[in-house]
Amino acid sequence: MAGTMFELETDLGRRRSKVAVGLDILSRVGSLLRECDPGATGRQAGLVTDSRVGPLYGDVVRESLRAAGFELFVHQVPVGETSKAFAVAQALYQVLADHHVGRDGILIALGGGVVSDLTGFAAGTWMRGIRFAILPTTLEADVDASIGGKTAVNLPAGKNLVGVFHQPFLVAIDPKCLSTLDARDVRAGLAESIKHALITSEEFLAWHEDRAGAILSLHEETMAELIRTNVQVKAGIVERDALEQTHTRMLLNFGHTIGHAIESCSDYSLRHGECVALGMLAACRLSVELGWLGVAVAERVEALLGRLGLPTVMPTPIEAVRITESIRCDKKARGGKAQFVVLEGVGRPVVRDDIPEALVAEAYESLLP
Ligand code: NAD
Repeated sequence: MAGTMFELETDLGRRRSKVAVGLDILSRVGSLLRECDPGATGRQAGLVTDSRVGPLYGDVVRESLRAAGFELFVHQVPVGETSKAFAVAQALYQVLADHHVGRDGILIALGGGVVSDLTGFAAGTWMRGIRFAILPTTLEADVDASIGGKTAVNLPAGKNLVGVFHQPFLVAIDPKCLSTLDARDVRAGLAESIKHALITSEEFLAWHEDRAGAILSLHEETMAELIRTNVQVKAGIVERDALEQTHTRMLLNFGHTIGHAIESCSDYSLRHGECVALGMLAACRLSVELGWLGVAVAERVEALLGRLGLPTVMPTPIEAVRITESIRCDKKARGGKAQFVVLEGVGRPVVRDDIPEALVAEAYESLLP
C-alpha cells in the first residue's frame, strides 16, 4: 500500500492546519504546499533542518520545493536540544533578514521536535508571524511535537520557558523517515503513543499490545497506522482547547509531572519519552493507590512498556525528595499546587490538584531498583 495518504483538516485556534501522512510524501511536499496555499508559488521558502537530518532528507525536499516553483534557501542548525536557544533563533532571524523574507515568506521545518519548536518559534515571531510547515522526521515529532502549535526555545532557567502558539498550515509526515532513526529514539517516541492510548481508548491500548512486534520492527503500514491514530487523538484534544485555557489540553500531560521531574533531575541524560514512560507507570500506580484504578491496568502498562523497550525502573536512582521538590517548581503548578493527571480507567483521565505529596513520593519510589 505504498503511497497511501491520510489527510486530516483541523481547526486549531484561528488557523486551519492540514496533516498528511504518506509513504514517500517528502518527494511531493512542493505540490502539497501549493495545494494548501495556491498563492504560495514563487514565494520565498526557508528550509530549516539540523546537521543530521539535512544530509539524509534535504535533497529530496529541496528538489520537490524547487520543482513547485519556490525560491528556496536552506539553514542548518546543530543537532540536539541546545539548538532550542535564543542565540540559534537570532542567527535564524539574521538569515531571514539577509534573504529579505517578508510577511508572505514561509518557513519549513525538516527534522525532529527540536527543529520544529525552533522554526515555529522563529516563524511565529518574525514580523509578528509568518506561515510555516513541518516535515517531522522523528516518532516524537510525528505523534506529538508537530501537532498542536506549541513552539518554544529554552532558557538557562528552564525548558520551553519562552514560546508562542503558532499553528503550521501543513504537517507532512513520511513514516519512511523512521528507518534511519536511532532505535532508542523510536522507543522514546512510542511512550507518547502509549500515553495517547491510556488517556483515550482501551482499543488503542490493546492495538499496541497486539502489534508490539510489528511496531518494533518498524513495519511501514503499522507505523503509518500508529501515526495516523496519534495525530487524530492529539488533534482532537488540541482542537477542544487550542490555547490550553481549560483542563482538556492538560490531559496530554499524563505521566509528565513525575516525568518532567525525572528529566530535569537526571540532567537530561534520559530521553524525554523514557522519562514519560517512568512517569506514566508512577501515575498509574498512584491512581491504584488512590483506589481509582484497578491494579491490572498498572501491570498491563508495565508489561507493555517493557515489551517496547521502555524503562520501568529508574536506570540511575534519584532521591524522592529531589523529585517532589522539582514537581513543586514545575511551571504547571498553579497556586503552589501541582496539577496531576490520574486515571480512573483506560480512557478516563482526570486532572487533580489535591494529591498528597507523600503518595507522589511513594509512587515515584516504586520505580527505584
Ligand atoms: P530531536 O529533534 O533532537 O531529534 C532527535 C535526534 O534524532 C537528533 O539527533 C536528530 O538529528 C535525529 N534525527 C531526527 N530525525 C532523524 C531521522 N529520520 N533519521 C536519523 N536521525 C534523525 O528530538 P525529538 O525527540 O524529535 O524532539 C524533542 C523536542 O521536541 C524537545 O525539545 C521537546 O521539548 C519538543 N517537543 C515539543 C512538543 C510540542 O508540542 N511542541 C511536544 C513534544 C516534544
